[in-house]
Amino acid sequence: MKITFIGLGNMGGPMALNLQAVGHEVVGVDPVGGPDGIAMANSIEEGCVGSDIAITMLPNGAILRKVAADVIAALPKGAVFLDCSTVDVDSARDVAADANAAGLGALDAPVSGGIKGAADGTLTFMVGGDDGAFETAKPLFDIMGQKAVHCGASGAGQAAKICNNMILGVTMLGTCEAFALADKLGLDRQAMFDVVSTSSGYSWTMNNYCPAPGVGPVSPADNDYAPGFAAELMLKDLGLSQDAAASCDADTPMGELAKALYDRFVNDEGGMGRDFSAVLPWFSGRGRA
Ligand code: NAD
Repeated sequence: MKITFIGLGNMGGPMALNLQAVGHEVVGVDPVGGPDGIAMANSIEEGCVGSDIAITMLPNGAILRKVAADVIAALPKGAVFLDCSTVDVDSARDVAADANAAGLGALDAPVSGGIKGAADGTLTFMVGGDDGAFETAKPLFDIMGQKAVHCGASGAGQAAKICNNMILGVTMLGTCEAFALADKLGLDRQAMFDVVSTSSGYSWTMNNYCPAPGVGPVSPADNDYAPGFAAELMLKDLGLSQDAAASCDADTPMGELAKALYDRFVNDEGGMGRDFSAVLPWFSGRGRA
């Protein structure tokens, strides 16, 4: 396949390299360049000539909307527009409708798995869009990831992603405040981990991404909370889930509180650029007092 890959940052760069490594023809488009080994085009128009599929991995919905207008104008009819960025559901649906109206297949397929998953080709894709486009993209999901779940029509992938990450944010905060309480009660952190990770309080954050250094599998906490998954990216995702909740009148009080806490952590408490699990030292220091 000829693949145009637009947005070759921390995630897109390694994803594009994995596609090229198995023999696909990959052309990149990014104003700041791409990783060594990927041929770059000067414009979206140039990069999309003769492409079977255009993949975007961009920072947000506003940028996606701008890029999508150019991609939709440039792709040959019958090609597929595959957006893997994490964006709001409305942007995903609008872009897909425009692509479909221009005779293109369209999928929203945000990912879970982070930079390591992108490099290792072990991402999980949550996909919205029609069956035909999904079948076209499926072999590429299999290269870039370990699993692709077809969640429903356009926007369903983004809906799944923001619900998942709302749970993740809430669970991380709950796990961190429980560790902070355990500390005050004089409970050893290893004992806390050993009990909770095998009891009903267990979770992905506790068992696989423990916010306390020195216990559980190696996590960003063991690397002085270098990300990993940066706190400001969690704040972005909680903003998306709260915006979505407002747009459909859903009640998400825990998501609202999680967003407020990450907002404070990122903007007032030095959390910018730290892993999202670094709320544990903030809570332990009674930083919220
Ligand atoms: P990044 O900032 O490293 O990469 C984004 C890239 O897009 C940059 O290289 C930038 O130059 C490029 N770009 C911006 N405007 C462009 C334009 N008009 N045309 C072409 N390229 C343009 O960000 P990232 O960490 O790679 O994240 C990308 C997306 O993946 C985001 O939506 C993010 O929420 C999502 N995501 C990130 C992670 C993670 O751990 N980093 C995990 C899951 C999902």
